[in-house]
Amino acid sequence: MNDHAIRRILIVGGGTAGWMAAAAFSSLLDRRDLEILLVESDEIGTVGVGEATIPPLQAFNHMIGVDEDEFLAASQGTFKLGIEFVDWGATGERYFHPFGPHGQDYRGVQFHQFYLRELKRRPLPDIREWSMSGVAAELGRFTRPALNSPMPLPQLSYAFHFDAGLYGQFLRRQSEARGVKRIEGKIVDVTLDGESGHLRSVKLADGGSVDGDLFIDCSGFRGLLIEEKLGAGYEDWSHWLPCDRAVAVPSRFARPPEPFTRSTARAAGWQWRIPLQHRMGNGLVYSSAYLSPEQAEELLLANLEAEALAPPRHLSFTAGRRRVAWSANVVSLGLSSGFVEPLESTSIHLVQSGIAKLLALFPDKRFNPVERDEYNRQMQDVFEDVRDFIILHYKATRRDDSDFWNYCRNMEVPDSLAAKLDLWRAKGRIFRQGCELFATPSWVAVLLGQGVVPEEQEPAANAMDSELMTNAMEQMRLSYRRTAEQMPSHAEFITKNCAAKTDPLVPA
Ligand SMILES: Cc1cc2nc3c(=O)[nH]c(=O)nc-3n(C[C@H](O)[C@H](O)[C@H](O)COP(=O)(O)OP(=O)(O)OC[C@H]3O[C@@H](n4cnc5c(N)ncnc54)[C@H](O)[C@@H]3O)c2cc1C
Repeated sequence: MNDHAIRRILIVGGGTAGWMAAAAFSSLLDRRDLEILLVESDEIGTVGVGEATIPPLQAFNHMIGVDEDEFLAASQGTFKLGIEFVDWGATGERYFHPFGPHGQDYRGVQFHQFYLRELKRRPLPDIREWSMSGVAAELGRFTRPALNSPMPLPQLSYAFHFDAGLYGQFLRRQSEARGVKRIEGKIVDVTLDGESGHLRSVKLADGGSVDGDLFIDCSGFRGLLIEEKLGAGYEDWSHWLPCDRAVAVPSRFARPPEPFTRSTARAAGWQWRIPLQHRMGNGLVYSSAYLSPEQAEELLLANLEAEALAPPRHLSFTAGRRRVAWSANVVSLGLSSGFVEPLESTSIHLVQSGIAKLLALFPDKRFNPVERDEYNRQMQDVFEDVRDFIILHYKATRRDDSDFWNYCRNMEVPDSLAAKLDLWRAKGRIFRQGCELFATPSWVAVLLGQGVVPEEQEPAANAMDSELMTNAMEQMRLSYRRTAEQMPSHAEFITKNCAAKTDPLVPA
C-alpha cells in the first residue's frame, strides 16, 4: 500500500445508499490498511420508501456476494419483470414496459422496425407479445433463466421489488460482518482544512468527533456535506419534472403479488403499486402546484385495492441533480447527489452506478482532479439520460383533461430528448448514446405505448418478404407464450425459493 493510500472512509448516512456503499467498499476494496466507518442518526431516520428496482441490481448483488434468494427472503422481496403504465398516453389506455428485448433482430435490423412495418399493413397485437418478460408478467408467471435455457427464455430479464429499509439492514449485517464500524450519532458540525478546503472530521451531538480521508455523503436530500458544507449547488429540473411531492402508504393484498410494478397516471401526477411478499406498497407522486397534500392523500386512499396498514407518509423533493457529485474529498451518493422521481425506479440504480464509477476512479490522498472531473462528467451523463427518459413519459401524452397534463404536453423538453424524438418520429430509430441506461426496447415500449408511431420505418426493414415476415413473427409470438405458460406462477416460485420466514403469501 502506498503512502498516499486512503486509510479511512467515512460514510455519512445509513439509508439504502450508505449501506450499499459500505457493503460494496467492504467487499471490493483492499482492506489490509483501510477502515470503513458509517455514521447514522436514529433520530433523523431514513427516507423509508423505495421499493422497485431495475435489472442491473442483480449484478451489484452478485459483485458483493449477496445470495439472491437470501436477500429476497430478508427484504420481503418479489420479482419485477417491468412496469404496467395505465392512463398515460390517454385515459383508458395501458401498456407494458418490459425488461429485456422485443423479438429477435434479423440481418442487423432491429425487431421493432419489422413490427412498425407490419403495423402499417395489418392490425397487430401489442409489441409486448414479443417480449419474454412482458408475456410472463401478463400471465403472472416467473422463473429464473438458467445458463443453458433454450431460447427464448434467456431473454427474460428481471429486477426486484423489496422493502428498501430491510435491504439496507441486510447489507448492514453483511458490512458489519466484514468489519465496517457503525457509529450512531447526529452530526452537528463539520471541520474543514483551511488550506486544502478538504473535510477533516465530523462532530457529533455527544461531543465526539470522527475524522476521515474520504467522505461519502449519503445523508439524503439535504446533502449535509456536499451541499451544506461545500455548497456544490443543485440543478433544478422541476420545469421538466413538475412533480415535487409524494404520499406513500402500505396496504394489504387483494390478490397474490404480481411480478410487475403498476403506475397509473392521475390528474396531477401518478400512483405506484408495488407488490411485496407481505404487503402492497402504494404512493402518489404529484405536483403541489396542482394538488394539495390533503387532496393527494384522499386520492391515494380512495384508490387502494385493500385496507391501508399504516398512516400515509408525506415527502417533498425537487427533481434535479447536484452540480458536482464529487467535490474536494466528498463524494455524494443517493438522494444527496440528486433525485429524478421514481417513475422508472432508477434511484437505487443511480447509487449503484455512483459506487461502480467511484471504484473505477478510486482516489488516493492526493485527490487528482482528473479523477474527480471524470467522475462528475460520467455522473452528469447518467443523471441526464435518466432525466430524459422520465420526461418522455410526461411529454408523450395526449391527455388534455387537466392543467397538469396540458402543461406537460406543451412543455419544451431538453435538446437531447427533442433530437431523440425527431429521429424516432421520422423512421423509428433510437440510438443508445455512450453508457445510456435505457436501451432501445425501453424507448420503443414507452413511445409506442403512449401512441407515438413513426411515419415510416428503416428502409432495410422493407426488404424482407412479407409472407416470411408474417410467419416468423407469429412463430416468435407463440414461442414466448408457450414458454411463459410452462413457468410456475410468481407466488409459487417465491414460496419455493425465497419466501420470507414470517408473513406468508396470503391475500387479505
Ligand atoms: C417518494 C419516493 C419513492 C421512491 N421510490 C423508489 C423506488 O421505487 N426505487 C428506487 O430505486 N428508489 C426509490 N426512491 C429513492 C430511494 O428511497 C432512495 O434513493 C434510497 O432509499 C436512498 O436514500 P438515501 O440513503 O440516499 O437517503 P436516506 O434514506 O434519506 O438516508 C439518509 C441517512 O443520512 C442520515 N443522516 C442525515 N443527516 C444526518 C446527521 N446530521 N447526522 C447523522 N446522520 C444523518 C440519516 O439518519 C439516514 O441514515 C424513492 C424516493 C422517494 C422520495
